[in-house]
Amino acid sequence: MALDNETFGQVKDTVTRFVRERLIPAEDTVEQTNDVPEDIIQDMRELGLFGLSIPEEYGGLGLSMLQECEIIHELCKASLSFRSVIGTTVGIGSQGLVMTGTKEQKEQYLPRLATGEISSSFCLTEPDAGSDAASLRTTAIKDGDHYVLNGTKRYITNALRAGMLTVMARTDPNKKGASGVSAFLVDPSIEGVHISKADEKMGQRGTKTSDVIFENARVPASALLGGEEGQGFYTAMKVLDRGRLHLSSVATGISERIIEEALNYAAERKQFGSPIGEFQLVQAMLADSQAELYAGTSMTRDAATKFDAGDEISMLAACCKMFTTEAAGRIADRAVQIHGGAGYMSEYKVERFYRDVRLLRLYEGTTQIQQLVIGKNMLKSVQG
Ligand SMILES: Cc1cc2nc3c(=O)[nH]c(=O)nc-3n(C[C@H](O)[C@H](O)[C@H](O)COP(=O)(O)OP(=O)(O)OC[C@H]3O[C@@H](n4cnc5c(N)ncnc54)[C@H](O)[C@@H]3O)c2cc1C
Repeated sequence: MALDNETFGQVKDTVTRFVRERLIPAEDTVEQTNDVPEDIIQDMRELGLFGLSIPEEYGGLGLSMLQECEIIHELCKASLSFRSVIGTTVGIGSQGLVMTGTKEQKEQYLPRLATGEISSSFCLTEPDAGSDAASLRTTAIKDGDHYVLNGTKRYITNALRAGMLTVMARTDPNKKGASGVSAFLVDPSIEGVHISKADEKMGQRGTKTSDVIFENARVPASALLGGEEGQGFYTAMKVLDRGRLHLSSVATGISERIIEEALNYAAERKQFGSPIGEFQLVQAMLADSQAELYAGTSMTRDAATKFDAGDEISMLAACCKMFTTEAAGRIADRAVQIHGGAGYMSEYKVERFYRDVRLLRLYEGTTQIQQLVIGKNMLKSVQG
């Protein structure tokens, strides 16, 4: 699945222009109102951004992973809150369906997801099941031709905006680990599904996360993803492998923007009679950031190319996610340093970006979880 080079080039140019002309000028509004304006979300629909990763036969753009990474990198040169609006539909919310859904399930949801008529969320995390997601407790118990869902999901991005939830729940309570977990496609408007008000967060204002509570929510048996019980956790892990490449591009896109902010400031701000960028200690901070950006974009491109070729990329995706998101933290920190006292002031954007990128090292697997994935894969290669 990939768009031809010429059409892809046009899509990319359009996104670059959209970022410059529409998104960057609206960043302060998003920060002040803690919301992304509806007219911008409508523009995103019209540009096809909700359908980046959905196959063309279902109305999406059908980008390859490499192409998706390039578009996400471009998009994330603006505040990350804009990307979050489409993020779950392009990534973790829809990809379980794209990878393992039945024909009927795909026909039911993918065309509407592709146009942005509805968006989707991914419901894995629970109050007592974060990094150890396989210990999740939400249940989906078969009752005739329905399943009855009970449990609480936590920090679910875009649940308040979603028209479809991909929910991981235990269909076999006797099986404690991953093999008892199945995935369901749930319409959040049905009786028994409650979505809490949006959480207050450190950064990424305008993004929405909430608890999703299931109280005897009855879903038809046809909502079981792929029609097969016991596959939900494995599907979630495949979705997260792919999602880690997407998130790496989020990290490199915003890193490029932060470096641009720091470089412009360094070229303009004068101390001791010279622009501070002429001082070698400031240049060292800029250089370290630039090298990390280059390394992060190169490794993400390499892993995405391998993903498109059908290679197993779990370890590489974890390497990319760990490196690019940790690097984004260092790059944002240096940008604040280069701005001096101004870097601490809300008037300058680096203060906001510093808070925004902190999340990248936490969700879709913390840095420690990426280290465990990398370490386990390394050992497997010698132990067999
Ligand atoms: C803004 C936001 C949006 C989110 N969106 C979603 C979403 O859409 N859908 C969804 O399902 N989830 C979502 N999450 C949840 C996110 O994926 C989890 O918060 C994350 O996986 C970590 O789980 P936890 O918060 O329970 O931390 P914990 O698992 O409690 O971890 C706490 C600390 O312990 C460390 N730790 C845990 N286990 C180990 C170990 N074995 N070895 C070493 N260190 C370890 C962790 O690295 C971390 O430093 C979101 C979270 C946030 C903050």
